Amino acid sequence: MIEANLSFAAEAVGGERSGADLLFSGVTIDSRTARERQLFLPIVGETFDGHAFVKDALARGCVAFFWERHRPLPEALREYPHVLVERGIDALHALATAYRAQCHARVIGITGSNGKTTTKDMLATVLKKRFKTAATVGNLNNEFGLPLSILSWPIDTEVAILEMGMRGAGQIAALCRIAQPDIGAITLIGEAHLELLGSRRAIADAKWELIAALPSGGFAVLPEDEPLLRRAPPAGVRVTTFGESKQADVRVTDYASHGACGATFVLDPPGLIVKLKVPGIHIARNGALVYAVARELGMADEEIGEALGAYTSSAGRQALEELAPGVLLIDDAYNASPTSMARALEVLRDMPHAQKMAVLGDMREIGEPEDEKHVALGESLAAYGVTQLIAVGHHRKAIEHGARQAQLTDVQTFASAQEAAEFIAQNVCGEYTERGDIVILVKASRAVGLERVSDALRDSF
Ligand code: ATP
Ligand code: MG
Repeated sequence: MIEANLSFAAEAVGGERSGADLLFSGVTIDSRTARERQLFLPIVGETFDGHAFVKDALARGCVAFFWERHRPLPEALREYPHVLVERGIDALHALATAYRAQCHARVIGITGSNGKTTTKDMLATVLKKRFKTAATVGNLNNEFGLPLSILSWPIDTEVAILEMGMRGAGQIAALCRIAQPDIGAITLIGEAHLELLGSRRAIADAKWELIAALPSGGFAVLPEDEPLLRRAPPAGVRVTTFGESKQADVRVTDYASHGACGATFVLDPPGLIVKLKVPGIHIARNGALVYAVARELGMADEEIGEALGAYTSSAGRQALEELAPGVLLIDDAYNASPTSMARALEVLRDMPHAQKMAVLGDMREIGEPEDEKHVALGESLAAYGVTQLIAVGHHRKAIEHGARQAQLTDVQTFASAQEAAEFIAQNVCGEYTERGDIVILVKASRAVGLERVSDALRDSF
């Protein structure tokens, strides 16, 4: 993490320092988790004002703080070392930008509509085998999380992976001004945030900001099968494509699912057989992206293949859990869009279990017509071999309607995840699972809270 004198921070943010020029170790914007010797940066949001917590942060051991200069500084705080800044968020960005410039790490930015965290975690698993690697923790991919991630890097970090999220045009460009990525990768263009951006082209334009930010000598990794990303890269930037078609530079072939054991596929070139613990053609595609980056950084094929095989997913991101003999949970409750729904349903389809239960909730922020998209989801279920459906949330009736049209009859609907969880706790174990041989997919946008259903299932066995 950043270890610097307060004068370095003051200069980086163009602020005015008061008090001793002491050394701080790390920064925080949250007084509740503040640690000894940190620098506290108060942030002002719509519903909170970090300035109210400076005292708490100092009590927890922070040695200095930033303060927005247009606010009166309370008498009691004046004796502590501090820096007067214009705006807290801008100061956070400026400090992260200055620290990034000091670090010699190769920086890899990852964006895309789905699979950013999954790909970031897969890439970290691989690069850690060879390099001092720092990676975004969890999903901290926005204008707060990204600068805080950078400020947490050890100074001797060799490669740093940053997840970059966005909810509008210009946001990735802003993150790139801080991160100065050397390598940029886009997982895919989907329909996440379509509601906010209006069209898939607008989403592609916004993601392309990462590639546009790469310097000469930079390296871009792109999905081959996305026409919206077939654009000229900046001068001196090399492009490698991945995908399933023959045109892809790194091709995924011979994908085969092995149920709860995972999957295998071949990366071609170089003809590398990869075993995955987490199944799905989309996971294999993420693997191809990871391979392209790791090879660019000089790793050997076998080393990359072996490390990809060690990747396991985090909770709520297509995590496979054997709840009892013959009863498999696919916990994918963290997130959903039409694209990732289809991929998760493919994984369900490829499982050998006779009964395939889908507990599905709303897909949010996917743009109009929302109802039709949920009807289409319902209609698609029979083709994936779904035998029972539990639909949850605002769009439950639309999903049910589609499912019934496709002749699926075993359907329950619930307004909330809580009700669905109660139903599952009371019924599902006995009724559906006593015969075993069942796989249960749990998936929705995060706001639906379907992790309650996953928890209810876990508690029931
Ligand atoms: P967020 O915008 O919330 O940060 P994200 O882009 O980080 O999302 P993940 O959390 O990695 O995405 O995954 C979200 C969902 O997308 C999961 O269900 C995951 O299995 C699925 N997914 C992962 N990779 C892909 C991919 N390449 N294509 C489609 N779906 C994917
Ligand atoms: Mg994420």
